[in-house]
This record gives sequence, C-alpha cells and structure tokens, in this order.
Amino acid sequence: MSRGAPDVVADLATLVAFPTVSSRPNLALQAFLAERCEALGFTVERFEDPEETGKATLICRAGPDDADGLVLSGHTDVVPTEGQPWSSDPFRVDARDGRLHGRGTADMKGYVAACLAALHALSLGNLRRQLVLVWTHDEEIGCRGSAKLAAAMRARDARLPSACWIGEPTGMRLLRRHAGHVAVELRCRGQAAHSAYPELGANALVAAMRLAEAAVGTAPALRAAALQAGDASGRVPLNVASLHSGDAVNIVPDAATLRLGFRPPPGCGHEPFLAALDAAFAAAELPAGTTFERDVLRVTPSLRTAADTELERLLGPHLHDDGGDDCAGFATDGGNLASLGCAPLIFGPGRIEVAHQADEYVEEAELRGSVAVIRDVVARAIAG
Ligand SMILES: [Zn+2]
Repeated sequence: MSRGAPDVVADLATLVAFPTVSSRPNLALQAFLAERCEALGFTVERFEDPEETGKATLICRAGPDDADGLVLSGHTDVVPTEGQPWSSDPFRVDARDGRLHGRGTADMKGYVAACLAALHALSLGNLRRQLVLVWTHDEEIGCRGSAKLAAAMRARDARLPSACWIGEPTGMRLLRRHAGHVAVELRCRGQAAHSAYPELGANALVAAMRLAEAAVGTAPALRAAALQAGDASGRVPLNVASLHSGDAVNIVPDAATLRLGFRPPPGCGHEPFLAALDAAFAAAELPAGTTFERDVLRVTPSLRTAADTELERLLGPHLHDDGGDDCAGFATDGGNLASLGCAPLIFGPGRIEVAHQADEYVEEAELRGSVAVIRDVVARAIAG
C-alpha cells in the first residue's frame, strides 16, 4: 500500500502530541519514527538507555557501510511546560498568524518532521554513500542520550559519516561551535556538635563555603587554561550553583553538598579546567576535622568544527551570510557525536529565542522551506 506524500505540518503535529518531556519515556515517539524510517527503506537500530527505562535513541542507516556520507540528527525530548502561561495546549500544534505553536515546534521536532518530509521521495535502494539518521533522547538534560550512544558505538569501534547536520533552531544560520558544560559536586563531611560547644564539632558547611570561595578564585587560572588550550577568548563561565547543608540553628552541621558548573570553550576538553579547580580545592583552608570528595556529575563536550567542511559546502547555496558569530549559546548533541569521527554543524528552522518558553513556535514558511533545503542537501550528499 503506498502512502501519499507526508505533510510536514501534519507530521510536526504528530510529533508534538507525544509529550516527550525529558523526565518521561520516549519509546512511543521512537516507535513512530522507527516505523516511518523503515517504510522509507532505512535499517533501524534502537539503543535503549541502560540506566533510564523507557528511553531510547534510534540510528537509522541506509547505503553502504564502508562509504562516507551524511548524518541528520535531532533530539526527541522537550523541556517542561509547567508554570508557563501557554495560550493553547502545548502538546497540540496550534496554527496562528503563520506560526505553528507547540512545545518542541522550534526545539526541535520541526527539524525532525522536515527530515521525514524531505526523505519521502528519496530512493534509498542503490545509494553510493551512507545516509544515517540519529534521533536522540535526553538532550535537554545534558545530552545524555548522545553521550551513551557515543560510548556504546565507540566500544564496538563504530563511526559515523563525516558530515553531520544537527538541526537545532538557529533560524537557518550556520553555527560551528559551542561551549561545553561540566557539572561538579563536592560533598563535605564534618562532625556534628551542640552549638554551645562548636569546638567539639567540625563544620561541614564552612568547609563547603571555603571550597565555593576557592572555585570563584580560579577565574584567572581558568582563563589561563583556556588561552593555553588555544581559545583566544579565554572565557570560561563558572557558576557556583547550590549549597545544601544544616538542619537546625543549634547544631554544627556535619554534612554539606556544593554544586557548581563550568563551560569549557569551543574545542577545549574539560580536563585542564577541572585540574585548575582541583588544585584550588586542595589548597583551600578547611576547618580542622572536615574532609571532602569531588565528583563530576556530567560532562557535555564542547564543539568546534572547522570552516569549509563538506556539509558547509553542501549548505552553501542555502546560507544567507550575515558575517556574524558562528558560536551557539547552547550545547548540542554535536559534542558527543563528534567523538564518532564526524564534523557536526548546527543549522535548523525555528529560533532558540522562542524555545523553552510559553507559546514556542516555528514559522510555517520557514519550516516548509527547510524541507526543500534538506531534500537538496541530502540528494547532493548521497550522490557523492
Ligand atoms: Zn534543542
């Protein structure tokens, strides 16, 4: 039975109707995508998350394994809507004034729907080059799905084709770089005591405060590490984010948990910055009898793709060169996928400025335009 050409707006409505907030499962949405991609002629592999039940990332492959080619990638999760003043149901696409409103319309189910529409008329039977689709989970909570996928693929020595198109909402501007993000936790231990006799205790909260001060004091060392790593901006944002400790005003606290995050510049690994922080923590003067342990909770790698890659040349006819900065203000799955041998670029319909908010939208004309761009780029990429 043949299916009519899919309509990108109808597919977007279907995708948005799966409420795939990162805290919830995405298997139903992935089953829909798997069926569609199999019908197009792709071989679909599902990577179930070993730690999160009900979550999976899909890899859909067509063409010869041993040939280079193109990856199209997007994430299937969306951010929550609670507490936001939506004018319509966020999980039903609402068309108003040429805009398609709904959670994920911009970030980034619009691109996924556009890929489905663009690939519809393509013949995948005798490809000379590879075409791979990567639909990830849990991007919005630290690119966890792509991190686990990349680790699983590296373990079996698998790689991705070199051209990799991440369709995050950039208003169809080409971005090559973004900073990473590293979340760090410090757990301090001390000795509880009656507050009338603080000398009998060891105050874990004070220890955590000294470690927070030490982290703030690393700004010059972080900057030096960035310059050393080849980042001319020397910019490494650091945020002392939370400190939890203490139960009562008359007890010396025996435990404290401090969390902080920092953002390695584009193209920089996180190790030199973590080393600078560790040196500062080791030198901090903590109250006698207190100790601490430091854990890295999560690493989202940065991205720095060189100019003039194959994908950039393929996208060339569709770029309006505004000569602006090519650095995204947000992290993407690209940092993890780059570890599989590809050179990701970020370019897609919708604007990040309206994402993560009430009444998120993508312009219908821009979405329809992106279908034609994807179709053209894919056709030329797989023709070699
Ligand atoms: Zn996104």
